[in-house]
Amino acid sequence: MKLWFSTVPLFALILLASCAYQGVNEYPLDSAYPAPQDLVPKMNELAGHHPGLLLHRIIGFTKTEYLPIHAIELGRGQRNILIIGQHHGDEMLGVALAFQLFESLSERYHKDDRVQELLDEYKLWIVPSLNPEAWRLVSDGQARTKRKNNRDTDGNGKLDIRTDGVDLNRNYPVFWDIDTETDHLSPFYKGPHPASEKEIQAIIALGRKIKFDLAIFYHSSLTGALSETIFLPAVAEADEEFQALQSLAEFYAQNVPRDYLPGNYFLHKNSTSKVGNARNFFYHSLDVPAMLIEIGGVNKTGQSIIHPPGKMVRRIVIRHEKALLKTLQRMREL
Ligand SMILES: [Zn+2]
Repeated sequence: MKLWFSTVPLFALILLASCAYQGVNEYPLDSAYPAPQDLVPKMNELAGHHPGLLLHRIIGFTKTEYLPIHAIELGRGQRNILIIGQHHGDEMLGVALAFQLFESLSERYHKDDRVQELLDEYKLWIVPSLNPEAWRLVSDGQARTKRKNNRDTDGNGKLDIRTDGVDLNRNYPVFWDIDTETDHLSPFYKGPHPASEKEIQAIIALGRKIKFDLAIFYHSSLTGALSETIFLPAVAEADEEFQALQSLAEFYAQNVPRDYLPGNYFLHKNSTSKVGNARNFFYHSLDVPAMLIEIGGVNKTGQSIIHPPGKMVRRIVIRHEKALLKTLQRMREL
């Protein structure tokens, strides 16, 4: 009897803990996922509190809906870091992380010496979403899956949410001609020609204007096969520059715990997609170290969790904020 009494609270605790962190996708999306209309008011508020620390820019407009593509310059430093929260509309964790970064780091700047030092050395260019058309649809709850932008690819004069659009992360002008995704109905459709999309033209223009020291692209794939993994550009051989990037990516990975399973993130070391994606373009065409980080999790049953409840979103974005700060610190020491 005595044993029974003493073990009940323990079982209850274990049960509670496993429920709290059980991985599920939850719809409608929690308010922890920022909506497009949150961005400008939030930016104005923060810029008012921290004059000179943040600057709001519009780097371009989408073609179909003429929506602005926002960027936030955060920091006073000379070394530029590009962070894109979203290419694919149904990958909302990266947008939440982008908001976390500019909100949290601007607030911490005056309170935390380490953050101040980093933002005096670096300037973060944070693009919460490069795909505002799809961001809006997923944020409004009109679609759970909406990878591509809203280009009217079948030319029928209306938006077909399921099939229209171009996969922005296949539209960069590098390796574009060898990509076989020419079917406009495919979720991976590469577009009618390289850099055909205004979103891609906008980010290329920024990449040509600003010399970036590092570019990070956040994704969260629904299939789960890619989750909690960092992917590097496709290269024929790992030269010194690539090895330096690899060790930085490895460092980031080691500093982020997986969401629902033991261990940390992985660095993918074998060959990666030779298509017109952001990491290939920044690395090969602009000579910028670039990596893709898949921040969706995998739960204990192997299911991909890309839209967890709000509590988990807040946990995830804080973990990545920490890993990013550590990585920037490591770059200073190298
Ligand atoms: Zn993606």
